[in-house]
Amino acid sequence: MKVAVIGGGISGLCAAVALRRIGVEVDIFERGAAIREIGAGLSLWPNATYALRELGLLEPCLRVASRVENIRLRDPEGREWASVRVVGQATPALCLDRPALLAVLLAAMDRQRIHTGQTCEGISLESGSGRKPCVHFEGGRKLTFDAVIGADGLGSVVRHFVMGRVERPVYRGYLIWRGVAEVLPPYYAEGNITEAWGKGERFGIMPIGNGKVCWYAARNQPATASPQSKAQLLEHFRRWHPPIAEVIAATPESAIVRTPALDRPPAWNWAKGRVVLIGDAAHPMTPNLGQGTCQAIEDALVLSRLLAGGGSIEDAFHRFEKIRRIRAAAIVLGARWIGSFAQSEGWAARWVRGVLPRSCLSGAIEKTFHAIHDYKAGACLT
Ligand SMILES: Cc1cc2nc3c(=O)[nH]c(=O)nc-3n(C[C@H](O)[C@H](O)[C@H](O)COP(=O)(O)OP(=O)(O)OC[C@H]3O[C@@H](n4cnc5c(N)ncnc54)[C@H](O)[C@@H]3O)c2cc1C
Repeated sequence: MKVAVIGGGISGLCAAVALRRIGVEVDIFERGAAIREIGAGLSLWPNATYALRELGLLEPCLRVASRVENIRLRDPEGREWASVRVVGQATPALCLDRPALLAVLLAAMDRQRIHTGQTCEGISLESGSGRKPCVHFEGGRKLTFDAVIGADGLGSVVRHFVMGRVERPVYRGYLIWRGVAEVLPPYYAEGNITEAWGKGERFGIMPIGNGKVCWYAARNQPATASPQSKAQLLEHFRRWHPPIAEVIAATPESAIVRTPALDRPPAWNWAKGRVVLIGDAAHPMTPNLGQGTCQAIEDALVLSRLLAGGGSIEDAFHRFEKIRRIRAAAIVLGARWIGSFAQSEGWAARWVRGVLPRSCLSGAIEKTFHAIHDYKAGACLT
């Protein structure tokens, strides 16, 4: 079986590695001149590390990641209003640098099968090639495959072929700044993610291994507003609890990434014949649950198990869509809801944090996390 993966991001690479493991001939086509990721942290929760273990990728990830044991939610002055333990599952919660995960995936791939500078412009079903999809590349090149996996992210071209319509991603009202600081302040404990909530703004810090921390800030602003510079961000968070100002100051301006919080309404159709969507192409979500990549890793495992099952490609893709879409939709909607609650400027969110007992808030968040993190993708297919 010859499969084309469109997009050489984390989803595309993960799917390609998973398919290689079951003996599929797989080629990745990436529009960029190289396979690269931004320097920013990534949390991989136990549902993702379980899937990584099943794909034989957990061990190399453990070598480059930091383990997470607690999530500590604070107010801007540093007072904790909830603390959530994330231990006790079969596999650990991890934080790591995105390029480090990419390197693990690349090491598991045959580099000859990765084609950069290849922009997919569309998919068609060529007459004379049965139901096989044909990929159209910029410059006029066309290649036919037994199946195509669309892993081309938020602005997916393959999504147009599968769904037959174009909707714009929806801006959820806040911008996110991210950076990696090469210093680990002495008072900062490994194993803890901290997130401080203010009025319409948040600041999070997570250790990502190798003496580095990743930080992120979210602030409400209109889609048309220009993003703040490092100096403005520093000035804004100057009075927030340590080491917030220190980690911003330790990050070069050019390494700060700004991303609007975007998602799309959950989609029902992820597959059309022998073409299927995975990752952000299928289920783009706001980052509030840290689940975008985690869901892509689950996608890769489930898809490979279904294709290894021996039925037709169309059936495997149809079953994939049925198995994955409800879970992904719940997470897309959950992430959106948490984002609007956390970014709320109204009194209700602050009242909940100020009045409800810490144990009650921590317990409620822990239950939600367990429902997401305990999931064993593809377990019912073995
Ligand atoms: C602020 C922020 C924080 C996040 N934190 C986390 C986290 O902690 N944990 C987590 O699990 N998730 C997190 N996510 C989500 C995660 O980043 C995404 O879900 C994930 O990167 C999606 O990967 P992807 O490969 O599907 O898409 P992308 O990373 O967008 O990759 C798509 C690839 O396809 C290529 N491409 C696009 N179009 C074409 C084309 N026409 N032809 C050829 N190639 C094409 C692109 O160049 C790109 O390389 C976060 C997201 C944000 C915005």
